[in-house]
Amino acid sequence: MTKFTDLDLDAKVLKAISEAGYESPTPIQAAAIPHALNGRDVLGIAQTGTGKTASFTLPMITKLAKGRARARMPRSLVLCPTRELAAQVAENFEIYAKHLKLTMALLIGGVSFKEQDKLIDRGVDVLIATPGRLLDHFERGKLMLTGVQIMVVDEADRMLDMGFIPDIERIFKLTPFTRQTLFFSATMAPEITRITQEFLQNPERVEVARQATTSENITQKVCMFKASHRSKEGKEKRALLRDILKMEGDTLSNGIIFCNRKSEVDIVAKSLKKHGFDAGAIHGDLDQALRTKTLDGFRAGDLKILVASDVAARGLDVPAVSHVVNFDVPIHAEDYVHRIGRTGRAGRDGKAITLVLPFEQKHLDKIEELVKKQIDRMDPPNGPAAGPSDAADTKEDKPKRERTPRKPREPKAEQPAKEPQEKREPSNKGNQRGSNRSDGRNKVVGMGDHVPAFMMRSFEIKRATRRKKDEADAQNTQTDLEENAETPASDESAT
Ligand code: AMP
Repeated sequence: MTKFTDLDLDAKVLKAISEAGYESPTPIQAAAIPHALNGRDVLGIAQTGTGKTASFTLPMITKLAKGRARARMPRSLVLCPTRELAAQVAENFEIYAKHLKLTMALLIGGVSFKEQDKLIDRGVDVLIATPGRLLDHFERGKLMLTGVQIMVVDEADRMLDMGFIPDIERIFKLTPFTRQTLFFSATMAPEITRITQEFLQNPERVEVARQATTSENITQKVCMFKASHRSKEGKEKRALLRDILKMEGDTLSNGIIFCNRKSEVDIVAKSLKKHGFDAGAIHGDLDQALRTKTLDGFRAGDLKILVASDVAARGLDVPAVSHVVNFDVPIHAEDYVHRIGRTGRAGRDGKAITLVLPFEQKHLDKIEELVKKQIDRMDPPNGPAAGPSDAADTKEDKPKRERTPRKPREPKAEQPAKEPQEKREPSNKGNQRGSNRSDGRNKVVGMGDHVPAFMMRSFEIKRATRRKKDEADAQNTQTDLEENAETPASDESAT
């Protein structure tokens, strides 16, 4: 087995690695580091959790240890799709380069330009950036990329999902042709292949753990769920989520709940908090300071549940996450692998539970095709027929009060539609009370000759009215919370 000391890394880097507690290189490190140190372009096909960050940072630091930075001309550049990922790479750099005097700047959106300008002006060895913010700096004339000797593109497949490929191409063209490129992607979509063919020179391809691989340490479950009514879907699904979280009890030390939409992230986090869970939200529309605070809290164990979108949680490295819950089935099957890969890290056990509505079956099929197995089904915690125990999300869920019967109202002239409704067959056939059927079946019995007027009221009218109220209430709740409901989480901008 390869040892770090076999890898020709700078002695100060080796010291930092050993202090970080790493004993031996991971497969991607063992495969990529020698090529990177030899000055070769590297095409790394690896996902997060494989140690890929160190596979490019360690050789970069070793190479940058010699030489000095010039004002506004960074010597190396690392491009990441999201602010969080960029911040994480920066943290890694700080750990591995702590015994060297290298300067670093992190250029991400949501942070003032002024501070970033100051750092660039002084000259940086390593510039870590999201593409949008980097180009903003460039366009403001504050930055030159002609001094870049090493350029890293991290999580290129996510860059593609987020529409950053044109930015990446532009940045490539702003850097010298002679640069060394280290390019990482979990998957190789045709567009990614095209980019690598255009901008990498005879790269060494290193590949580990295919994207379809899910860790053996993760217990995976699928919970099929059908709401009692379309309009109650969200509310009942949130109740089911709470039931599942409660069911997991003490085994749930911390967890990430993934939603497909940013608006859903907000709704779920808000609902969980309302029901006494220690939850926080993270997605691309939130203020950067808040995102950082929430993430730090989650990492430190101060926040138990993180409700997140794919992009915001992409590549997050929190070693001990006990649970991942897919509140929505991910639309892209590979996202399933990435999401559940947040748990079961570093040899620990993890559990991943996916809630599946009937319309999401097609996405589940794709996932099972990708991971090449059928994921175990689980019953909802209250049994298959019982459904969620407590759908109390809004005012409509207050304990049911006995209704005081009111005098029947005359149907209004402008509501002719009620007439046919009243004649419809009541769906609750067991209800013996309400019927004004003309054929005499279901006649009210046991009242002698006097039947109070309210007993003669149409059951259907009440049902129809209540259904309308339910729908209206659900609509109100949704509109309150889902102002941006049509923006998919994957549209998030990282800058
Ligand atoms: P990454 O895939 O880069 O996100 O890394 C995942 C995790 O593995 C991070 O917490 C790293 O600190 C850790 N890690 C990276 N390389 C090693 C190594 N050689 N030995 C132990 N842990 C490592």
